[in-house]
Amino acid sequence: MSLLKIEDLSINYGYISALRNADIVVNEGELVTLIGGNGAGKTSTLMGISNLIPKAGGNVFFKGQDISRLSPEKIVKMGIAHVPEGRKIFPDMTVYENLVSGSMGQPKQTKEKFQELLEMNYLMFPRLKERLTQAGGSLSGGEQQMLAIARGLMMDPDLIMLDEPSLGLAPIIVEEIFELLVRIRQKGKTILLIEQNASMALSIADRGYVLETGTITLEGSGEELLHNPAIIKAYLGG
Ligand code: ATP
Repeated sequence: MSLLKIEDLSINYGYISALRNADIVVNEGELVTLIGGNGAGKTSTLMGISNLIPKAGGNVFFKGQDISRLSPEKIVKMGIAHVPEGRKIFPDMTVYENLVSGSMGQPKQTKEKFQELLEMNYLMFPRLKERLTQAGGSLSGGEQQMLAIARGLMMDPDLIMLDEPSLGLAPIIVEEIFELLVRIRQKGKTILLIEQNASMALSIADRGYVLETGTITLEGSGEELLHNPAIIKAYLGG
């Protein structure tokens, strides 16, 4: 069953059309990636789903319900975690406080559930566990990205949307982050991953969509797209 369904979504900034008539489906348990170059409209798509910017047209359905006009807070409560580009952790709060902030606003979260999520994050991100009392802003770039993902997971979301988690990170750290995404998916989470790093994203994705200047031009399995000559030429440096 489709968990997230985007139908005919368009987003404009004044006269600039950032996204045109996009159709995207994310099925339960899938890792779906949306790849494209600078300014292709990737961030705008996620902002449109979270209703952080107005839609020029189209609808977004989550668990079969039309969420197009719900407030961003309600959308979070329905089970969508949005990990924005640039990480946006709280730099002056400790790692632990950042994690706690992720579970706030989840009305049904019990103490036991909170503890369980915390333990899961400690297992998955041992480096964060070692740095619980350290200020978020003092972490390395890779650690801040891990914290942003861990904070999103503290919500126990059904869908986690990640905006370019590889941005500005060294290749070895990017690999570590992508391995973590695979593990998160194995735990049964559904993931929508926005990436400029097409080869890495497609190599872990079940399916992918290619966005070019606001239009979805291709879609297919991660494997198919990874071997598509047009993609290799445009995004994989071949
Ligand atoms: P990047 O990877 O560079 O972040 P992106 O694929 O995420 O790119 P968007 O950030 O969604 O792309 O931008 C899509 C288009 O919309 C671009 O042409 C961009 O310049 C434009 N745009 C984005 N935000 C605004 C804004 N606040 N005001 C005006 N135009 C904007």
